[in-house]
Amino acid sequence: MYLIYLLRRDLRISDNPIFHHLQQHPNTFTHLLPLYILSPNQIEVSGLLHDPDNSGSPYPQARSRLGQFWRCGPHRAKFIAESVWDVKQSLKDRGSDLVVRVGRMEEVVRQVLQQDEFRGKVGAVWMTKDWASEEVEEERKIEEVVEEEGDGKIEWKVWDGEEMLLHDNDFATSDPAQVPDVFTSFRKSFEPLRDSIRSPYISTPSKLPPLPPHIPAQAAPFSIPDSLEEFSRALRKPVEDCGLGKPISKPQGATTAHPFIGGETRAHERIVHLIASGSISSYKDTRNGLLGEDFSTKLSAYLALGCVTARQINAYMVAFEDGKDFPDFGIGLQFEKAKVFKSRGFGKGENKGTAAVRFELLWRDYMRLCMRKFGNNLFSIEGFRGVQQQDNSYNNNQRKNKHNSDNSYHWSDLSSLETRTKFTRFLRGETGTGLIDASMRELALTGYTSNRTRQNCASFLAKWLGIDWRLGAEWYECMLIDYDVASNWGNWAYVAGVGNDPRGRNDGSNGTEGRKFNPVKQAWDYDPRGEYVKAWIAEFEDVPGWQVNDIFQHPKDEREREVMSQLKKLEWVNRPLVRIQYRPRAEGKSQTNSKTESTREEKSERERIPGDKYNKLYGHARDTHHVEKKGKNNIEPGTGALS
Ligand SMILES: Cc1cc2nc3c(=O)[nH]c(=O)nc-3n(C[C@H](O)[C@H](O)[C@H](O)COP(=O)(O)OP(=O)(O)OC[C@H]3O[C@@H](n4cnc5c(N)ncnc54)[C@H](O)[C@@H]3O)c2cc1C
Repeated sequence: MYLIYLLRRDLRISDNPIFHHLQQHPNTFTHLLPLYILSPNQIEVSGLLHDPDNSGSPYPQARSRLGQFWRCGPHRAKFIAESVWDVKQSLKDRGSDLVVRVGRMEEVVRQVLQQDEFRGKVGAVWMTKDWASEEVEEERKIEEVVEEEGDGKIEWKVWDGEEMLLHDNDFATSDPAQVPDVFTSFRKSFEPLRDSIRSPYISTPSKLPPLPPHIPAQAAPFSIPDSLEEFSRALRKPVEDCGLGKPISKPQGATTAHPFIGGETRAHERIVHLIASGSISSYKDTRNGLLGEDFSTKLSAYLALGCVTARQINAYMVAFEDGKDFPDFGIGLQFEKAKVFKSRGFGKGENKGTAAVRFELLWRDYMRLCMRKFGNNLFSIEGFRGVQQQDNSYNNNQRKNKHNSDNSYHWSDLSSLETRTKFTRFLRGETGTGLIDASMRELALTGYTSNRTRQNCASFLAKWLGIDWRLGAEWYECMLIDYDVASNWGNWAYVAGVGNDPRGRNDGSNGTEGRKFNPVKQAWDYDPRGEYVKAWIAEFEDVPGWQVNDIFQHPKDEREREVMSQLKKLEWVNRPLVRIQYRPRAEGKSQTNSKTESTREEKSERERIPGDKYNKLYGHARDTHHVEKKGKNNIEPGTGALS
């Protein structure tokens, strides 16, 4: 009997419930067909046309609903190609292979089941569960096909994907409606978190059933390349132009914070590196960083495609904390044990860093559970709020909150030229607000930007520019290497004030208030030397001889005047989209919220920087002598990532 396993966002061999089952029950199936299907509504497939000059794609382009962006841009397309090829190789090493096909999932499955060579031989079609609405719909359609083609004789099973930190069976209830609307309430039911996490599957099959003898060819007009290079090129080529117009210049020497290659093996190597280098132990202090590879884990893209699971990350951390050998997940991982044994905190129990990683992974779970709870409301302009306001079971304390009665959402769409112009400037990183511009350019050039700047950019679009937050979410979907339906849309909704942020909701005036980040203050707090802004804004390079430190250390320097005059010649600097009001309280001291997490080193650096000079650089504002207003516009930037 044959088993067809449809892989989606479970691109791994280890801690994979289906491969684990096959290892435990080796003789259930004579043949296995692992199938990865590129769904043409989620990723542009025209690069895989056999003869692109003579045949068009039968599918509409894979573009987003509101902004018409590519649903999967070039950065993630590359990462997907690498991750797919990595599983393919691992399966080959185990006597199998990964068959890649293009088409709507149910059509491809039907085509396979209709082959003479498959008739009466398929015992089961399995896949792992995904909760996003398109994927749920996919599952429904495949089930129908399996039912029809198999005459009820083919087993259809959707397995728990085991991709969360916690396990479904550990929740008090399986009813998604019972997921608390506030993260803190959710988190409290799993304390201490370290003890609430199950172990991942440790054993991994070293041998799998072979492929069926006849594999149906890719249906015309597509063909699947047989090398990673060609496959990756075919996925990237049609989406290279993301509609930004003139290419964004990359400053010389700007290096991506996410140089990582996709795939299961690389994911595990990354975890070992984080532990051996000590980065995981310092994570709590560095996670709000902006530049470099190791200020945060950079595991998000691996998690999003299922190259690694949250429980595997936890298992490595537990071994480190307990001073034990790393678990052997059977993927042939090579690393220097001695380095791990010598790493800071080895054998000394949970530390601030490892606890903080667990905490963030719990946020990831929470976003997933909210997606289950709110379904398609995730994509509506009112987000979760729309549902919560109608929901009688909604938490009483929140009901009492006057903000909650607001249902006025006045975000602009792209129908006016003015909004379109503003939005394009936002996407291109030409708003005239340094932190935002640097982040939007980093995103477009590399596919990654830190959590701190993501929060600022989302807040800037939704709350300072008053533009429909979903356009931003769609742009992130296109651009992010680590795009994940639940985390992306959930975080955007949260920052826009229509998600699960008790402090983020609207105040009833124009739908764009609530918790609002001040990106100038945030730049003060998180980029005190201006290194991040300078790293990603190429125009700063044109100013001869300019060094960030020169400005700050020699404020009367000729070069400083030159920098300012050069900057003012730039239209987007001279006419910022918003002039953000923020002024340090006194020369040399910023109005720092006591809750903001900035290191001691940053604070002492800040004290050496004259406020107005600094503010000019970040706000790009001509007149920086604004005084922050008291009252409802007094801005309270958030502390950690949604925490
Ligand atoms: C507007 C916005 C959009 C976002 N879009 C995505 C997205 O599409 N995909 C995505 O994985 N994350 C998203 N995030 C969350 C977060 O920014 C990224 O997970 C994080 O920056 C990835 O880098 P890292 O792996 O180094 O994170 P780390 O700081 O090392 O965190 C460890 C892991 O915890 C999880 N995590 C951390 N913060 C969050 C969070 N706020 N919500 C959910 N999970 C979290 C991630 O899996 C991450 O890999 C978004 C945040 C914002 C504000």
